[in-house]
Amino acid sequence: MGLAKQDIDAARRMIAEARWVGVISHERPDGDAVGSLLGLSLALAQAGKQVAPVLVDGLPARYRFLPGSAEILRQFPSGVDLLVTVDCSDFDRLGLPADRLPRLPDINFDHHPTNTQFARVNLVDEQASATAGLLVTLLPQLGLLLDSPVASNLLVGIVTDTIGFRVPGVSSELLRQSADLMDLGAPLAEIYDQTLNRHSLTAARYWGLGLARLQRDGRLLWATLTEEDRAQAGYPGNDDADLINLLMTIDGADITLVFVEQPEGKVKVSWRARAGLDVSRIAAGFGGGGHELAAGAMLSGATPEVVERVLQATRPALGGREKGIG
Ligand code: AMP
Ligand code: MN
Ligand code: MN
Repeated sequence: MGLAKQDIDAARRMIAEARWVGVISHERPDGDAVGSLLGLSLALAQAGKQVAPVLVDGLPARYRFLPGSAEILRQFPSGVDLLVTVDCSDFDRLGLPADRLPRLPDINFDHHPTNTQFARVNLVDEQASATAGLLVTLLPQLGLLLDSPVASNLLVGIVTDTIGFRVPGVSSELLRQSADLMDLGAPLAEIYDQTLNRHSLTAARYWGLGLARLQRDGRLLWATLTEEDRAQAGYPGNDDADLINLLMTIDGADITLVFVEQPEGKVKVSWRARAGLDVSRIAAGFGGGGHELAAGAMLSGATPEVVERVLQATRPALGGREKGIG
């Protein structure tokens, strides 16, 4: 792991001295955001800290089964004397302007290669498959305890960011760590079922509307989702309902994209790529970020125009693969 010992020591001291720790992750939280937030928050509470875990968009319903999830707030109380971020690559992704934070970020735990190192101490390991996996390694070094509720939350982050241990970055070390979490009481099968296997009926209907417009050009495969689709399907939320993961199961594409129309003339773009490619730089070029094989960005413009711009920027990432098999 490429983290500097002096940074880990500094974080340990800051945590030891803190009384009330604010913990926050990125807007539109995924499983790693929620699992890392709750895992760290519960470990801090175990160590006698007062803790304020914050998600600006609140907790997605599918994570309600997680220990500690009822404590999640949407804004910070006053009195927080240490601010920690988890799984968040840049300041804007917190979803709160600086004047609504209790203080500027002190410690930044993350694994995005596009992380902007925005805190006083940045513990960013891009080799980690999930921020939750990084925390499994770091908690003992920070003087924090891994008990059963902490383990369950951290395993959620690992399982969701690796899509059930299916992405190329999964190492034997990560499997051993996950086995340790199971030994501590983390219920793997339940976590897998709750976070990856289940989809609501409205999500399935929403997918159907997007899939009806599925398009392919060489090795690129993409779908669009509109506000009208969500209204028609009755799907709550402004995300893609994980349609992007479904697209990645379709043969014949090396990069898949989903364009999700947002309020106020914006479009959320998700990229996924097969091993050996890199879409994170493309996303960063549009003000977003992510990983080589999974990245996202929020663009302004009408959907057809955004699709055109993004496809044009994405084609070069295919390298020699753009001709494909037709
Ligand atoms: P998504 O396509 O939203 O599932 O995101 C894929 C990856 O890209 C995740 O690691 C996200 O953290 C990252 N990501 C998504 N949207 C953004 C954004 N607007 N800015 C920075 N990173 C993003
Ligand atoms: Mn995340
Ligand atoms: Mn993550």
